[in-house]
Amino acid sequence: MMNILMSDSSHLDSKYFIDTHVYNCPFCNRGNVAYDILSKQGFHWTQEKECYIYRAKCSSCKNISMHLSYESLELHQTNALMGSNELYAFYDDEVKDDLDSKFFYSVPTSFFALDKSIPAVLRSLVVEAQGCLKSNYLTGASVCVRKIIYELAIKQNATGDNYDERIKSLKSVRPDIEPEYFDTLLTIQKITSDKVHEDSYDGWENKHLRLLLSSLTEILSLIYVIPNVLVKKRQEILKLKEEILGKPAKPTKPAKLAEPVKREKPAEPAKPAKPAEPAKRAEPAKREKPAKPEKNTEQKTTVAKSVSLDDLVRVSEVKFRQPK
Ligand SMILES: [Zn+2]
Repeated sequence: MMNILMSDSSHLDSKYFIDTHVYNCPFCNRGNVAYDILSKQGFHWTQEKECYIYRAKCSSCKNISMHLSYESLELHQTNALMGSNELYAFYDDEVKDDLDSKFFYSVPTSFFALDKSIPAVLRSLVVEAQGCLKSNYLTGASVCVRKIIYELAIKQNATGDNYDERIKSLKSVRPDIEPEYFDTLLTIQKITSDKVHEDSYDGWENKHLRLLLSSLTEILSLIYVIPNVLVKKRQEILKLKEEILGKPAKPTKPAKLAEPVKREKPAEPAKPAKPAEPAKRAEPAKREKPAKPEKNTEQKTTVAKSVSLDDLVRVSEVKFRQPK
């Protein structure tokens, strides 16, 4: 079971700590960037239980993140100078298994940041699950996770009488999403269901729920966020297309534009002839009545360049669609 979970998590990029010297920075969003531990401090979570605060600093953006663990992990100093800016690192031997799993809460929690494109019901459940994890309330977190899967199945018109069937149905309904994410849900969902029925959550670990949440948020992102991003990019390209098409109208090249006009509509040469002589007089005329010159030039340029620019836009659109 653990092997499956851990091998999945490596693909999800949801970890903070890759190893003792490299992590995924939540601030600059750089993957595999070097970090240093600035400090470690302990406090009493309960009378019997201790908790430890670790502060990690990104070597790239220099921002500092905070990480909580119930384990007292040994540190060794990495810089030679003994002074106020002492830097530390975890020992390889101590955290060779899975360093990231040692921490149950981190600030910022950027990996779970939710886009507003995701339906409010699902977002609030994810936030609630995060809140439960924040305080290490694993029962509440796992119930939230079950409900996220339940609501997602409804919204995606997934069929099936139980969770397993619903997730398998989701997998078939959304073949565009990597099946690995649903397989992860299936694997953990079995545990969740069992635990709920047994009315006992003993043995649930924070890292399972974090993996579940990161799988779910990834699926939510692929369903609700990424398509919007593609639409925005398409709009940006269309806007760029307009700008490119609009540019020939503004630059002072009335002579070149005037020529095709003479060929197409020889009756109108009187209008372009005026701006050709005094450029300064032509500008205020455009401000007062911008509709006439813009329309004329746009039509002309569209006719002249529509083939190549449209092709460019089409190619760009195809490129944006391909990764989906
Ligand atoms: Zn950084």
